[in-house]
Amino acid sequence: MVSNILTIDVEEYFHPTEVQAFVGSGEWGSLLSRVEPEVNSILDLLEEKGVTATFFILGWVAERRPRLVQAIVDRGHEIGCHSYAHRLIYDLTPAEFREDTLRAVATIGDACGVVPKVFRAPSYSITRESFWALETLIECGFTHDSSIYPIAHDRYGIAGFERHAHVLDTPSGPITEVPIATVKLASGRIAPIGGGGYLRLLPYRYTAAGIRKVNREEQQPACIYFHPWEIDPDHPRLARGRIARLRTYTGLKGMPRKLERLVSEFRFSSLMAVHPRAARTAA
Ligand SMILES: [Zn+2]
Repeated sequence: MVSNILTIDVEEYFHPTEVQAFVGSGEWGSLLSRVEPEVNSILDLLEEKGVTATFFILGWVAERRPRLVQAIVDRGHEIGCHSYAHRLIYDLTPAEFREDTLRAVATIGDACGVVPKVFRAPSYSITRESFWALETLIECGFTHDSSIYPIAHDRYGIAGFERHAHVLDTPSGPITEVPIATVKLASGRIAPIGGGGYLRLLPYRYTAAGIRKVNREEQQPACIYFHPWEIDPDHPRLARGRIARLRTYTGLKGMPRKLERLVSEFRFSSLMAVHPRAARTAA
């Protein structure tokens, strides 16, 4: 049975890109924090099911909740980096991205003593325009990245990008890229199944059928993600506008049950346990 990859982007409900349009980073410190109980309930579920996952920590959260990051490590999970301030990489200069990344690595290291080796960009913001970011990551000590969604989307994604884990050679050295799970439909179209919004918005069977297809037909692991705020139906709703609210708040109530089914019906592990180093493919 193929082991899939379970990843959690550890951030507050006010960090998603759709919400940031309505709440500036200057206000973050005064908002009610919900991440600790949310992550604790995820840790309890994973322990009950015997699942190890990769937690991509936002540096801003690590700075304020170091004990939470330490608890994730103590319970046997892998620590990754989700940037410091949740800014879209294609909006940053290479120098700004380097500064944000080094700050995140330092805060996460201070919180739990682990230097993260695997990176997840805010909102999958490594695109063709910000592909240079992989070189910065290698220079900052990362060996793995999981920031590329090989789909066409209005805000992220690289359509036509290799769908499975592989080594990318860059002028700064190699990095193992682990894209978010997608399926190839009979029409040839690539559809996202990676989790988060899709798991929340669509029936459970959509994600389950997608993972089964990737595991059975392609003999490949599926990399799935979600956020702590997605299992918390009572978190304050800050986003306005129809699309932002739909993307952020629909399906929160059904999410804990869907997650429980997911980790019961499929095998999952942490990213680097599944891909210590991916097979080299011609770029
Ligand atoms: Zn995020």
